[in-house]
Amino acid sequence: MIEGVITMNVPNALQLTCDECQEVTMHEVLRGRIGKDQDVIEATVKCLECGKVCTTVVREAKSMKVPIIVSEMGSSQRLELELGEDEILAVDDELVAGDIPVIVSAIEVGERRVRRAMVRDISTIWAKRFDKVRVRVAINKLHKTISVDLEAYSGASLRRDAEAPDLPPRSGASPRHAPRRPPALA
Ligand SMILES: [Zn+2]
Repeated sequence: MIEGVITMNVPNALQLTCDECQEVTMHEVLRGRIGKDQDVIEATVKCLECGKVCTTVVREAKSMKVPIIVSEMGSSQRLELELGEDEILAVDDELVAGDIPVIVSAIEVGERRVRRAMVRDISTIWAKRFDKVRVRVAINKLHKTISVDLEAYSGASLRRDAEAPDLPPRSGASPRHAPRRPPALA
């Protein structure tokens, strides 16, 4: 299910600082569980750059519901989006509201419009529905970020991969390493 970029479930992947790479890289979550107080994930993760496996404890931000107004073709609908309180949201960020992929067009903090803000300060998010071209761009971008859940949204364009017999068991686990069949030679 697509619940949005941020979820309280154990994610398929996390961006963490890798000791080996000495920078923030995408880590596949091999095993993970939510801690007792619901805001900590204890996880065994694998760096997708160097392959190093380690265990880590990640503090998950408390989440909150933020009103989001999604406009599409001249009409708009008001939804709610669950986001981590400590997340920073910026104009042009891509999100999934309900099951609609959207791009943030404006952020209101109180009466003011700002380019970026901490989620806990936001009163309303204004967003536009993606067109198809934007979605494709977003998917490419998101392969490099934490939002592997969104890969599910690209199911139509990835269907050929999905039929490969050696598909990894979890769809979102490692998009960069997803098996790709070589082009057929005539
Ligand atoms: Zn690494």
